[in-house]
Amino acid sequence: MIKRIGVLALQGAFKEHVAIVRQAGARAIEVRLPEELEGLDGLIIPGGESTSIRKLMVSYDLTSKVKKLAQQGLPIMGTCAGMILLARKVDGLNTQPTGIMDIEIRRNAFGRQVDSFETELVIPLIGNPPYRGIFIRAPKIERTGNNVEVLATLSDNTAVAARENNLLVFSFHPELTTDYRLHDYFLSIVDSAQ
Ligand code: GLN
Repeated sequence: MIKRIGVLALQGAFKEHVAIVRQAGARAIEVRLPEELEGLDGLIIPGGESTSIRKLMVSYDLTSKVKKLAQQGLPIMGTCAGMILLARKVDGLNTQPTGIMDIEIRRNAFGRQVDSFETELVIPLIGNPPYRGIFIRAPKIERTGNNVEVLATLSDNTAVAARENNLLVFSFHPELTTDYRLHDYFLSIVDSAQ
């Protein structure tokens, strides 16, 4: 069966995720309305502007359904603003995050001068070569709950990728590279969730 991967398409870098999902042979569904969340095998929440995405999630009435699906085990990948939105607590967000994942985040955590940078990341689960992480006004993971596994850190030990069961998050933008190993990893979580 071809997998159906929803990509939250309210604001931000959703087109890039859609293209990668299609290239991987899965079906990508742009999600704007609650009914478009039905029958999905996975969901991607993209980067962008977390306050705007959050407000649109509320006006389109998506929050409770996304929460419910997450609790039922739907694999969800959040990148950058998407990670912010999944968190339990966020420093610097003037609205409530969804509280779906047991992580605490600081928004725009890398300061003004270096608020965008690229760096090689060693991510053991995808092995060699190292992965080029693109950080754009990126958030930091400041605390992880007991069931959260940190998948990658910067050289100063800042956690920038994590997984809690069906939930996978990145501080950076895997959709802006041509290295699709992290999307492949997410799709493998989708496969094993069936
Ligand atoms: N700084 C953005 C925010 O806080 C996130 C940046 C991104 O998604 N590239 O929403």
